[in-house]
Amino acid sequence: MMMKRVELFARALILSAPALMLTTGAMAGEKEDAVIAKVVNAYGGPALTNARSLRFQVESKNAFPGQGYTSGYVEFTPLKQDIQFDLANSRASAEAWSSNYNFSFHTRTVSIGDDVVAVNYNTGDYQPAAAPDYYTAFGPNIRSTDTLLAYELSQRPDTAEHLGERTYLGRPHELISFEIPNSPPLTLYVDAESGWISKMARETAFGDLSYQFSDHAKSGGVGYGRNFEFFVGEDANIVSLNQTLSVNTVRDSVFRIDRGVDEEPARVDTSEMTVDEIAEGTHLAGTGNAYTMFVDAGDYVIGVGGYAGLADRFTAYREATGSDKPLRYQIVTHHHTDHLGGMADALELGATFVTPANAVDNLNTAAGADIPEDRLMVLDGAATIGPVEVYDIATNHAESYALAYVAPGIAFQADHYNGLYDDAVAPAGSSAVSLKNAIDGLDLNVEMLLSAHGRKAVSWSEFESAVSAYNPDGCPSGRPICAKS
Ligand SMILES: [Zn+2]
Repeated sequence: MMMKRVELFARALILSAPALMLTTGAMAGEKEDAVIAKVVNAYGGPALTNARSLRFQVESKNAFPGQGYTSGYVEFTPLKQDIQFDLANSRASAEAWSSNYNFSFHTRTVSIGDDVVAVNYNTGDYQPAAAPDYYTAFGPNIRSTDTLLAYELSQRPDTAEHLGERTYLGRPHELISFEIPNSPPLTLYVDAESGWISKMARETAFGDLSYQFSDHAKSGGVGYGRNFEFFVGEDANIVSLNQTLSVNTVRDSVFRIDRGVDEEPARVDTSEMTVDEIAEGTHLAGTGNAYTMFVDAGDYVIGVGGYAGLADRFTAYREATGSDKPLRYQIVTHHHTDHLGGMADALELGATFVTPANAVDNLNTAAGADIPEDRLMVLDGAATIGPVEVYDIATNHAESYALAYVAPGIAFQADHYNGLYDDAVAPAGSSAVSLKNAIDGLDLNVEMLLSAHGRKAVSWSEFESAVSAYNPDGCPSGRPICAKS
């Protein structure tokens, strides 16, 4: 990734130098200024640059690469967004609603004074936003909206670099890069004739991202692309179905926390690497949203939970327990690629993998090499590895999921439930209900439920009360974005 960015800068220098030499008397930046003027003019000129506010209401389909129900493809999920930018006061509100076969969320990230908070309408509470500054909190919305890219470009001409010309979709385009705070440089593909932005590209740790805009129109004198598609690498991630823009209609009352919405209970502190003893010989190690259960099997250790950073968690486990036993087995929970980020570590540590059959392809990719046959145990129903029992179950999250159980009553799961709070019961989604049904069907005596995504060891009675409080209504707030008409 670093290499690619260096190459991009180098190309920028090569391409801009001849342009300067060929244009007699040209000032540095003249080409950039011309492209910026073309873009601003296309998007409405003063109607854009003097707009006090812009509101985008968007209906899309959203997919999550590597997160399908099967390992073969990913499903598309409905996504609705109501994005309101108060440009005059550098504040915004981004409401999003989605509901599908295994999750539903309804959130609003909103500027409140100098802060940014995240409202959760499914639970009726709010918390400080993970990203408290304007450009980090609302950068994803700015980058997904060509009108806002044009607006930001007009505000930051000094960061612009003309990168040359390229044919894109059969038409000549000017390439220009510019910067907004807290983001890698953004490269715009500007239609050389019309000035519309056809595409924005940027390179991130997640891979090459591309944002495509088409079917441009005007509303209130301001231009916008009515079609939007977002790709992560080669995978389609968001495809818009309908998009509208209204100009200067955002109201002051938007920038308040909704009546009846309370601050959420205190979350379990996950800021530092911790190693908790759950029962004799069973530990949970991790930090942030990545945890692994390590089980001492006598001569060796069994790991369950495979997020990136597995080697660091194993080192922390050894330091905390004084163990020098090898990681002999690593249990792969399911085929989702985020849960395979630590598998190259496990391969390096010498582990044999215990995995659902449908995760083998993704496992090989994540490990960076085909796992040798003598280090691969493909689950067929159930297996016993030392003191750990592994059950291949089907839930609404994954068609094939390896549930790990250690006597006298500890189960480890990923993605179905996260305890979240110190002293309160965290809300359950449909996946928690599905998991509980699967565990009930196994007739296991689970007393404690561990999670790949959180530190809290949840008692079975707490899990049961979360599941019994589950609300299947995908729109409990009744807000217009999701209310059934
Ligand atoms: Zn998953």
